[in-house]
Amino acid sequence: RADPHPPAELLERRAKAIGPSLSISYAEKLKIVRGQGPWLVDHTGRRFLDAVNNITHVGHCHPHVVAAIARQAGILNTNTRYLSELMLDFSERLTAKLPGDLKVAYFVNSGTEANELALRIARTAIGKKSTVVLDWAYHGNSGGMVDVSPYKFKRRGGYPQPDFVEIASFPDPYRGPHKGRSEAAGRAYANDVARCLERVRSKTGSAAAAFIAESISGVGGQVGYPDGYLRAAYEHVRAAGGVCIADEVQCGFGRVGAAFWGFELQGVVPDVVVMGKPIGNGHPLGAVVTTPDLAAKFANGMEYFNSFGGNPVSMAVGMAVLDVIEGEGLQERALETGRYMLDRFHDLAKRWPLIGDVRGWGLFSGVELVRDRQTLEPATDEAGWIVNHIRRQGVLASTDGPFDNVLKFKPPMVFGRAEADILCDALEAAFAGLAAIAPGA
Ligand code: PMP
Repeated sequence: RADPHPPAELLERRAKAIGPSLSISYAEKLKIVRGQGPWLVDHTGRRFLDAVNNITHVGHCHPHVVAAIARQAGILNTNTRYLSELMLDFSERLTAKLPGDLKVAYFVNSGTEANELALRIARTAIGKKSTVVLDWAYHGNSGGMVDVSPYKFKRRGGYPQPDFVEIASFPDPYRGPHKGRSEAAGRAYANDVARCLERVRSKTGSAAAAFIAESISGVGGQVGYPDGYLRAAYEHVRAAGGVCIADEVQCGFGRVGAAFWGFELQGVVPDVVVMGKPIGNGHPLGAVVTTPDLAAKFANGMEYFNSFGGNPVSMAVGMAVLDVIEGEGLQERALETGRYMLDRFHDLAKRWPLIGDVRGWGLFSGVELVRDRQTLEPATDEAGWIVNHIRRQGVLASTDGPFDNVLKFKPPMVFGRAEADILCDALEAAFAGLAAIAPGA
């Protein structure tokens, strides 16, 4: 039976009813009507393998999570001005997954809100707004977050760097000025954080600042930093009296396989940890976890209240997501499937010179395309072509990075070898297809 509202009609209505700043993926737009595990189904009943949605961490419409939402929505949903063990249970369970003194949680509704709150906590503690960010970082969609997101304010439609923001060099082992993953490269990049702190000192009289960084960069093109980078950067920040914030919105909750949190791969313990996306498997939920000391400093008399943050339905969802991660061994699965995928990507790279770099940590990986492995000239159009080609074959991925030339993979964590093979076979066919129309690519 034909869909009464096919994509062409929806596109026309959308052009009038929805602001044009919101983009839609792929040359041929998709109308997705259902999801299950790592699969999405379009309006014609065709299945697509989802290799890019890291929000639906435990799989689309996981029955345990769906049941938790339905059950709690039928009992109570209200704000946090009444006592309830749900929020406490979730806070205690979540913070038990964190090292050190990270024991106090705040609950919000998105990654943006969580980063906003993390920065408020840090800025209250140090008594000023000074913030050091990484080049090419993205931390959220609010005005306050765009101010600390060079990915936004430095690009089209942007504006000059705010005077309270310093931008540290992006620690990219492949494309940046210091090549490779050595500790020496890590220290060299961290020295640029020290340079930023000196600028903060010259502007404000003290070098104390909030330092916010993803533990592995997502929109920067799936970039893991050289060894010891965050350790050295945190040392500089703390020596200056600053506060270190880890944005785990993309890489947290076991995705990186070898650890539950991305920052653990860098051997650091942040002062504030920001969580979003996977924490609610698609339900709007975010969290900030910090130390009792910073939480006490933040309680300076100005209340923090959030109408929806910490509501019982969200808390039930958070618990259900942790149940599934633990019960289905998804972190271990991410490690195993991730290793297998990386092997297959390396194998592709042997045959297709277009692939300049392959990198991955569990189910968070990237394949960077270049026209020349010496000059690293970005193969932006080619990356877009590949993504659209595999979409036509039924596999969904996307591109990112400063030049939009990195194929990005961060599938639901239920991805196994069978799914990895479907993805890699589609890539194989796409690279062959591209070589056929553009020999030399
Ligand atoms: N931080 C990072 C690293 C992100 O990738 C995103 C979303 N892409 C955010 C924060 C903002 O999260 P949200 O869209 O839930 O507000």
